[in-house]
Parts: sequence; structure tokens; C-alpha cells
Amino acid sequence: MKSKTEAIIISSMNLGEADKLVTFFSLDRGMLKGVARNARKSFRRFGAGLETFTISRLHLFEREHQELARIESTDIIEQHASICCDLDRSAVGAVMLELVREMAPLGERNAPAFLLLSHVLHLLDGREDPLFLLRIFEIKFLSLLGYQPKLDHCLSCGIRPKGEVIFLGMKGGMLCPDCMVSSGEPQIRLSQGAVGFYYHVLRMDMDKVCRLKPSPAIMQELDLAFSAHTFHILGKRLKSAEFLKIVLPLGH
Ligand SMILES: [Zn+2]
Repeated sequence: MKSKTEAIIISSMNLGEADKLVTFFSLDRGMLKGVARNARKSFRRFGAGLETFTISRLHLFEREHQELARIESTDIIEQHASICCDLDRSAVGAVMLELVREMAPLGERNAPAFLLLSHVLHLLDGREDPLFLLRIFEIKFLSLLGYQPKLDHCLSCGIRPKGEVIFLGMKGGMLCPDCMVSSGEPQIRLSQGAVGFYYHVLRMDMDKVCRLKPSPAIMQELDLAFSAHTFHILGKRLKSAEFLKIVLPLGH
């Protein structure tokens, strides 16, 4: 059966002599994998349409009960050249794509998540601060997948604290300082500013979010909280996030 879909290329690796195995996040069917036969030889059919970060229209051929689609050809919708040739931007973009690859279920449509990734990649290709975009993406993307941390009331006593709170990555929520029993482990503290910023990002659309100017301290608090949160969801650290810490150590 032939079909076509708009998709963001998540990864593309060589397979055999001339083929490519491509993972892509599509608008109408979520995460999928496909094989592009002869992709390394046929520039006419594929061009740069299978490069990571590119948004392409993929022409697919699928058989029932076959896990991998066949990608017959591509038309480029939007290329992101500045991401690929800038180390900071490509390192940040790699974290976004790894989050999508690890968290979005195969074959499950999530149009808002597709539109979010496509919008954020468009901004990452411009002049917006890459680490700021990563924080925004994490907050909105996890929420669209149903993993939104609850930071508006204490998990234990239910109150809405006015000051600092302690984030619990394992529970995806927080405790007020009165309910926290110290275990000697380092705690992830979130200031009222960080919690406020988090809820602004959840509620606002992208154009308005980009006008916010959070302090570096807020960015860092949310970085620690979301690293802990994704670690507990996935049971592992993202490889690309470890690399990003080397590339952009100031933000961490
Ligand atoms: Zn409490």
C-alpha cells in the first residue's frame, strides 16, 4: 500500500552496501522506521531528504505485518542547515531528537508533539538561545506525552507552598520543605521563580514563551529537575545529554 506522510528525520544509519535505515516522527502516525533502498546512491529520489533534523514528505510503500516501511522517495519541506553546522545547536538538537526517539511510542499519532518539535527545530535553526529552547521543549514535550510533573501542590500534605520546593524525579512531583525528610541524598530544589516559569511555559504558546527571560539559575534548576525526571521515566541517562554537558558546560 502506498502512502505519504510529513515527517521529521530523527536518525538515519547506513544499512548494508547502499541502503539506509531511517527513524522518523510523522505527523499522522507518530514514530516509524523505514528502509530507503539504494539511498546512498540515488540522489535523485532522496537528495538530502533523509538527513537528521530535516522535515520531509516521505513516499512510503508498506505491506501488512511488515514492521519496516519502504521509503520510496522524499520531498524536502524544511531543511535545517544552521543546526547541522553549529556544534552547540546540533548538540542541543540531538538531545531533543533522542528524547523523541526514546519516549514517543512507535506508530502512535501525536500531532501536537510533531508540531512542537517542528516549531522548536525551526527556532533552533535561527538565533534563539539553544539551551532556552531545550528547556521549553522538555517541558512541553513531556506534558504532551502524559509525563507532566505536578509542581503546584505538595505530594504529601497537599498544600501549595509559597517558597522553595524539593523536586522528586521518581514521583514526577514535589514536596514542601516541611514534608521533606532528609535522606542525605543531594536534593533538587526549585525556586518559586522556576515553578512559575514552568507553568507559564505549559500554558503559553511558543510565540509568547519566547518572550520570557528566565534567569540562568532558573534554567539550571529546571535542567536538574528534568534530567532526574527523564532518568526515572527511561531508567537511563540520554547519551546526547551527557555530550551536551561537555559542549555547553556553562549551562550546567
Ligand atoms: Zn508538604
